[in-house]
Amino acid sequence: MAGAASRRHSVGVNVGGVMVGGDNPIVVQSMTNTDTADIEATTRQVAQLWRAGSEIVRITVDRDESAAAVPHIRDRLLARGITVPLVGDFHYIGHKLLTDHPACAEALAKYRINPGNVGFKAKRDTQFSTLIELALKYDKPVRIGVNWGSLDEELLTRLMDENANAAEPVSAAAVQREAIIQSALLSAGRAEEIGLGRDKIILSTKVSDVQSLIAVYQDLAARCDYALHLGLTEAGMGSKGIVASSAALGILLQQGIGDTIRISLTPEPGGDRTQEVRVAQELLQTMGFRQFLPVVAACPGCGRTTSTTFQTLAKEIQDHLTTSMPDWKEKYPGVETLSVAVMGCIVNGPGESKHANIGISLPGTGETPAAPVFIDGEKVATLRGADVADQFKVMVADYIEKKFGN
Ligand code: SF4
Repeated sequence: MAGAASRRHSVGVNVGGVMVGGDNPIVVQSMTNTDTADIEATTRQVAQLWRAGSEIVRITVDRDESAAAVPHIRDRLLARGITVPLVGDFHYIGHKLLTDHPACAEALAKYRINPGNVGFKAKRDTQFSTLIELALKYDKPVRIGVNWGSLDEELLTRLMDENANAAEPVSAAAVQREAIIQSALLSAGRAEEIGLGRDKIILSTKVSDVQSLIAVYQDLAARCDYALHLGLTEAGMGSKGIVASSAALGILLQQGIGDTIRISLTPEPGGDRTQEVRVAQELLQTMGFRQFLPVVAACPGCGRTTSTTFQTLAKEIQDHLTTSMPDWKEKYPGVETLSVAVMGCIVNGPGESKHANIGISLPGTGETPAAPVFIDGEKVATLRGADVADQFKVMVADYIEKKFGN
């Protein structure tokens, strides 16, 4: 982790066999967008997210039908050999659903509680206590997940009033940030009073503005040692969501803050939900915290690459490695550390290729139509002809077999 601050100390939490916090790797998680009551659709999407690399998957539990579906989803996943921990996302009536559906309470690996909407105002304390008692009864951890879209109004109003009467009032935004943090810390303190250990509590304080998110988590991280779940809520669609999430989470991770991350992307209609998993993995891998996939280094191309051979090969290699990885991980231990370079011309091609495990420098415009290939820094071949891409893919496969095969 060259350049990163040392990791903030946090108490590790066991979420269905996946450790979050402590000295453990930063965990990638995601959330389904199916109706949980639709057992088949939810099972299928959890399996897709897991196959893409999600180490924990959260599902909405919003009514009796979805609570009743949870144990069936868990069983169908287990029947397919998928042991990914399932987290139940509860709002308003979580205490009731977990009480009325013991099989659901048992099947879930963690309960997500939003302190801003635990039941209804007058009974909020009792209902929060009920949720924590159920977590104790079933020996489950909880995430106390504050979201500024559903912040505890009473707490915010009290802090606003105190600020208005303070000798040196701070900005409304600062009061709101403080309310978010206090909501998380007061709830966690209450959970501990009821008997839940610190090794059963994860906190999150999500907002949708990048600068606010960074400020909130920096403050929260300094004030406790609970494991922290990071995420920019309502990050948005496409490149906007990816850039905003990466900017916010990248800065916090670089400061050693964060034990598990979720990238909350809004998929295109009918779009691929697994994108959020890939972005989370790429963020952690790009920053050097974890390795999930072989790295393909490719130059951007320029006026020296007028043919499409270069872009096509770079994409083919990237796709080939990505789609093959689930099987390769079993067959070739350590293959995720592989680095491949696909370069467009002689300017940076040979140099970059030498830095990779295996690299190819395609000929740019006006260059001799030959593509030198480098393996572990040495030139080993020069490929020619219309099928250079296929020849190189065979060389990559041979390299993987030799280096990572048993
Ligand atoms: Fe252009 Fe060559 Fe640099 Fe690629 S390596 S960007 S083709 S000059």
